[in-house]
Amino acid sequence: MITNKENPAIELTDYFAQRSTAQIYKDDLPHIDITRCLDLLNGLELCNEADKLAQLKEFTQLAIEITPSTYSPANLKYLFSYPDPIGVYGDLIANYLNSNLHTEECSPIFTHCEIELIEMMKHLVGYPEGDGIFYPGGTMCNLHSLVLALRQCKGQRHQAATIISDHTHYSIDNAISTCGVEHVFRVRTANNGVVDLEHLTELIESIKEQELELTYFCCMYGTTNQGKFDPLEEINKTFKLQHVYPWIHIDAAWGGAVFFSEHAEQFRKIASLSDSVTLDFHKILSAPLLCSALMVRDTSVLPNSALSDKANYLFNNRQNTHFNLGLKSLQCSREPYAFKLWLMIKSRGISYYQSQIKRYYHNAKFLRAQLDNTHIVHLVEPSYFNLCFWYLPINFTKRKQISDYSMTEQKQISELNLAIYDKIVTDKKIYINHSNFNGSPYFIRVVTHQANLTDDSLTEIASYFNQIYHQITS
Ligand SMILES: *Cc1c(COP(=O)(O)O)cnc(C)c1O
Repeated sequence: MITNKENPAIELTDYFAQRSTAQIYKDDLPHIDITRCLDLLNGLELCNEADKLAQLKEFTQLAIEITPSTYSPANLKYLFSYPDPIGVYGDLIANYLNSNLHTEECSPIFTHCEIELIEMMKHLVGYPEGDGIFYPGGTMCNLHSLVLALRQCKGQRHQAATIISDHTHYSIDNAISTCGVEHVFRVRTANNGVVDLEHLTELIESIKEQELELTYFCCMYGTTNQGKFDPLEEINKTFKLQHVYPWIHIDAAWGGAVFFSEHAEQFRKIASLSDSVTLDFHKILSAPLLCSALMVRDTSVLPNSALSDKANYLFNNRQNTHFNLGLKSLQCSREPYAFKLWLMIKSRGISYYQSQIKRYYHNAKFLRAQLDNTHIVHLVEPSYFNLCFWYLPINFTKRKQISDYSMTEQKQISELNLAIYDKIVTDKKIYINHSNFNGSPYFIRVVTHQANLTDDSLTEIASYFNQIYHQITS
């Protein structure tokens, strides 16, 4: 029987119960330090200038210390890492100028930077005639995509139906409830984490039977958890076969790096079948938070010129309305989210970012090869920057996929991987994640999108993994 070495008396089969009462994560944050840091600024307003500066310095140092570092190659937990310094400089200029991007008149330079970038991105995602708008985050882009879809709904609004998968990002669920869409159909994903086409057909038939209108479908390009890509070509064929023509939105907030990869042409071709695409540059190109764009295939859908009469204190007919980007956005005031990215691409050239992306693909493959794979079942071969795998109890033989194990075995696998994860959290040597899906056992999830990762650091991480595995199971 596998035992937990930290506490050899506890067998791992009790790990679930033990874990839920242990409140591991409550002890995880340094609450004493957080309070100490915040208290440093008590009474600041009463200090003289010199003391104020000293106190602020101490506060800043402690705040930096306490905040998990995005710069560390050991931080492989999140989809964003440290910001491109040129982007940080761009943000600084933008913040200093503090101008607003609703009209060209107010922000002439930033407006034209955004227009230039949209021009570039529309070709990148396969919309040569398209348009786009920058947003603070993929959540806003996804919301706007649904708004556009609903505007095109031919029937009654209460008949609008959407299909999303169980791997759709939660911001889409949020958008759906915000817009009050009543009919939400959830398509299953197959074991490989992408939309199950048979189930999709069943759902479409059911939508037709209920006399609803399929208005919106969200296709995942890079699921947040596993980095999987839905088969859009087949999905599109299914729609055509069933004579339904929803607005197809690609959520490429995470997976958008494919458009900068060696496979860009292939993904662009497929993406051209869609109506809109979300891109999160603060994830894929490490622009400083926040920097996202919603791209659309049809140029006529974004501008809402009816608004310009209402807000004639901002917009007037002496302006070139084409350059009044505020009319394309759900926001009124807007920061120059695009400017930092524009500066990054101007300074380094797009090829620099393409080579970064290549490196992240390499990282995933390299780390996979370094792990002790005799005791590991991989969720999928890494096709993106998410490496997801299950460690197997030492006496288990390796099978092809996790579903080849019985439910009892899967429970043991889950407990082992949670124990490994908890040990990693306690050690604080590296920062990674754990997850599960569709009732699968918990697996280990490592994100290899980190520009500070080298082959040496990856080797070190792999040997640390192997070491704790043997520590826990031997
Ligand atoms: C991160 C993410 C989002 C949300 O984007 P924000 O920039 O965090 O608002 C949406 N979809 C996917 C797939 C994501 O990974």
